[in-house]
Amino acid sequence: MYRIVHAFLTLEQHLRAVVSTPQSYRPERCPHCGFGELWSHGYYERKADHSSHAALNPLPVPRFRCPACCRTCSRLPLCICPRRWYCWALQQLVLSLLLFGLSLRCAAAVAGLSRHTVRRWWRWLREQTQIFAFLLRSRFPELGRTTDIASFWRACLRLMPLRQAMAWLDGDGLTVP
Ligand SMILES: [Zn+2]
Repeated sequence: MYRIVHAFLTLEQHLRAVVSTPQSYRPERCPHCGFGELWSHGYYERKADHSSHAALNPLPVPRFRCPACCRTCSRLPLCICPRRWYCWALQQLVLSLLLFGLSLRCAAAVAGLSRHTVRRWWRWLREQTQIFAFLLRSRFPELGRTTDIASFWRACLRLMPLRQAMAWLDGDGLTVP
């Protein structure tokens, strides 16, 4: 939670920002204790380039250390999904297909994924929708007029991409994929 920076839509933008404006990743406060002045604490590396050459891997992810509680945290750009290897755009495609009524088998075939993965994403979305919808509606009142899971997410994804919705929820303290 509180890991996603609302900026940097591409890995190239992220790499440039890490070098030229590293302060844009610094959290305003410690996510563990709330202390206000975190120190830079280097980087960790993770793979996030899904292109055929994967030339940008591994990518640096900025870390910070809290001088008050001594714990560390890291910040990710919008273009990197915190806990799943697959990119947000592919997840949005799959979930959109399911929201429009395609079968798990069909969505998996379109996306080139296993049905197991697609089923897991779909179950996650349905299980989390109640709390996600509550928090997103309190921030975006125009989402309040929808009645069921599918119409809520269709309205949400018309308003903003999945990665943006997840960044808001991450900022609200929820664990997102
Ligand atoms: Zn702290």
